[in-house]
Amino acid sequence: MTEETIFSKIIRKEIPADIVYEDGLVTAFRDINPQAPTHILIIPNKLIPTVNDVKPEDELVLGRLFVVAAKIAVEEGIAESGYRLIINCNKDGGQEVFHLHMHILGGRKLGPMLSS
Ligand code: 5GP
Repeated sequence: MTEETIFSKIIRKEIPADIVYEDGLVTAFRDINPQAPTHILIIPNKLIPTVNDVKPEDELVLGRLFVVAAKIAVEEGIAESGYRLIINCNKDGGQEVFHLHMHILGGRKLGPMLSS
């Protein structure tokens, strides 16, 4: 069963978040527990729990995640210095919130891609 998460409440503005971008397809807001000077989550407004649930008709919204990531990187001043995009999937991927989301992390030299 597909259950809503706290991210649906953020999209609907039922709980506060530092939203940096929103449109009809995606919403982007600062992570509550930032791991880098810039740590923003970009999520589809539509609930897609994990990458495993992606369907061909989701191509537009998933492409929008990257378009918005590139825009945010410029706005955050990290486009040239560099940044990392991460999408975790399920337990071994470290996914905690089951509403697909792209992390954009930057603003400092990031460590190795995998810590363990
Ligand atoms: P995951 O491990 O699922 O890829 O990442 C979930 C992310 O969501 C974590 O980095 C966590 O800090 C963030 N997060 C969880 N709950 C909230 C919340 O209520 N508000 C915000 N802004 N971020 C959240």
